Amino acid sequence: MRIVFDIGGTSFRYAKYVDGEMVAGAKEPTPNYLQGHAPEEINQLLLEGIGQAIGSDLSRITEVGICYAGPVSGQGRILGSPTIHGIKLEHPFDLRAAVQSLAGIRDVWVINDLSAAAYRYIDDYRSFELITVSTSVGNKIVIDGQLQLGSDGLEGELGHQPACLPSPFEGLITVECTCGTGTNHIGAISSGRGIAEVAQQLCSASLKESYLCSPFKGRDSFTTEEITAAAAHGDEFSQSVLDICTYPLAYALCLTLTSLYLEKVILIGGVVLNSPSYFDSLMSNIMKIGVYNYSAKHLKDKITLGFNDDDSGLIGMNRFLEKQQHSPK
Ligand SMILES: [Zn+2]
Repeated sequence: MRIVFDIGGTSFRYAKYVDGEMVAGAKEPTPNYLQGHAPEEINQLLLEGIGQAIGSDLSRITEVGICYAGPVSGQGRILGSPTIHGIKLEHPFDLRAAVQSLAGIRDVWVINDLSAAAYRYIDDYRSFELITVSTSVGNKIVIDGQLQLGSDGLEGELGHQPACLPSPFEGLITVECTCGTGTNHIGAISSGRGIAEVAQQLCSASLKESYLCSPFKGRDSFTTEEITAAAAHGDEFSQSVLDICTYPLAYALCLTLTSLYLEKVILIGGVVLNSPSYFDSLMSNIMKIGVYNYSAKHLKDKITLGFNDDDSGLIGMNRFLEKQQHSPK
């Protein structure tokens, strides 16, 4: 039996695989710094959660796979995440070794959650980029079936590069990034959080005219869902907000596609999967920016939406473990 965990910024989930069949376990809130826990306490609570999930199946479980919503070194040490620990850990936590000694199981693997999600697609495309757009933005690249990560696990953090904004709006927007290292990162602007923030900052400034003609007139706070829905219904203010917010991600994507061959770019995450207007705006910006040598058809064929469910971490982690079984140790 195999057990896989998806330790996300919001939820702690697990599933057991019995004869290849997934049996989902309970979903709990992930312990995090917002609940007042110190980093060491969070590590201990995560370990306790893992121990409880293994529970009475300890003697039957032969492999443990854990994916975590933050950077992970090649040795399975977690480095801290903005959503769980709230900081970069001073000393990386060796989650792999801790679970090995807790459960007495040698085959324990710990990887980043988006890396796990990429494994869900690894048999479908040889070279691809997986991008998630939710409260932030993250990415992972697979080339010739190999996830492109160094041993320190520092890559795949596109969301924390400075955003390239459309020129009329440069200097007019300031959104703090959750990573705490700066403002106007791609993940701060091209994310769900970014859409709500940018709408708020521009409704009384450069987008005032269209705002006063929008259904939001008289309000100064918005949700991402409201803006994406209003854009889908033709609201000019909401469409402008979306076009500003998707621009930095579109720009970064065009740079990537100019630089290397990717069979597909797969977009996942609640914001892009549940808002067709976000995807349309992103595609429209990509077409405007363009990729040298690529036709519009090339771009449309390459960029696609992934599975619209919450299971990529668990399913991908299981696929990762299957791959380890078949690779020489
Ligand atoms: Zn950042």
